Amino acid sequence: MSITTEHIRNLIIGSGPAGYTAAIYASRAGLKPVMYTGIEPGGQLTNTTEVDNFPGYPKGVLGTVLMEDFRKQAIRFGTDIRFGYVSEVNFERYPYEVTIDGETKIIADSIIISTGASAKWLGLDSEAKYNGFGVSGCAVCDGYFFRGEDIALVGAGDTAAEEATYLSKLVNKVYMLVRRNEFRASKAMIDRVLNTPNIEVIFNTEVLEVFGDDRTVTGLKIVNNKTQNVTELPVTGLFVAIGHKPNTDIFRGIIDMDETGYILTRPGSTATNIPGVFCAGDAQDKIYRQAVTAAGTGCMAALDAERFLAAKETAAPMQTTNLQQAS
Ligand code: NDP
Repeated sequence: MSITTEHIRNLIIGSGPAGYTAAIYASRAGLKPVMYTGIEPGGQLTNTTEVDNFPGYPKGVLGTVLMEDFRKQAIRFGTDIRFGYVSEVNFERYPYEVTIDGETKIIADSIIISTGASAKWLGLDSEAKYNGFGVSGCAVCDGYFFRGEDIALVGAGDTAAEEATYLSKLVNKVYMLVRRNEFRASKAMIDRVLNTPNIEVIFNTEVLEVFGDDRTVTGLKIVNNKTQNVTELPVTGLFVAIGHKPNTDIFRGIIDMDETGYILTRPGSTATNIPGVFCAGDAQDKIYRQAVTAAGTGCMAALDAERFLAAKETAAPMQTTNLQQAS
């Protein structure tokens, strides 16, 4: 198999709101970015239905339509968007080498990582069937659609506690289903949950099945894992808040990240520990995780890349150096 090699000024890895926003800014700045979409072009928003909280869409917008609008805007300014998956990176020498699908080598003067994160799911067939039709992985995105209703939420960490509290202000009742007999969340978050009258915590409980009328959820089959007692819980929604996994495995051991895999960026910047490699969106954000915050950091990453290239190009002709040893 022959390997093709191409030298570019700016590579964007990933095609969610962060990647497309970086692409729009980088294209307009003349960086001629090449974007590789990853295996899920458009990212997490393509798995959701209505998006009501992205500014600029007063009537809401479908997640797929929103991402198509992002894509069209990036193309309008000349972004070269390609379907492909990064299979290997070599950041030891500058310019950096990135392999796509094992068969294309990109030599990049600057790189924006916007590979996002993936929500973890319970893994039930019925959960997948109703995803976007009553099953959600994001309370802030979808809670509004369940106003005044009874819903369930699975999870016991800080995200679950935060989402249960958020949802309690919108819905009639939140059943918080915890698989063990204790929380994982911090004490302050637990106190907030326990002091919210319309949250009922049900310990030692797991979801066996989500059921409904094929278009909407009408309830859950749940089991007490101590007594094996199976019951039905009449709810119209299920929020799964059992954690996210940043899509950063390919950079492990190469770029500084925290123990859960979120890439570390310099405060107030998208710079990673590798000069010229920037990170935007959920791959570096475990707190906010919103489309609009991802887009914001995508903009920052493009501006950071532009400044990096400008400084490098005015300082000296581009040469092959080992930046990590030099810095
Ligand atoms: P965590 O990994 O902390 O918690 C995941 C929770 O989901 C655990 O309680 C776990 O149960 C439960 N869980 C996992 N798999 C299943 C399953 N199959 N069925 C049922 N329950 C399951 O993830 P979070 O997203 O909550 O938090 C990630 C990180 O982000 C943490 O460090 C957290 O502190 C931080 N964070 C901070 C916030 C803040 O400061 N405001 C807000 C949100 C997150 P078990 O306990 O039994 O393993």
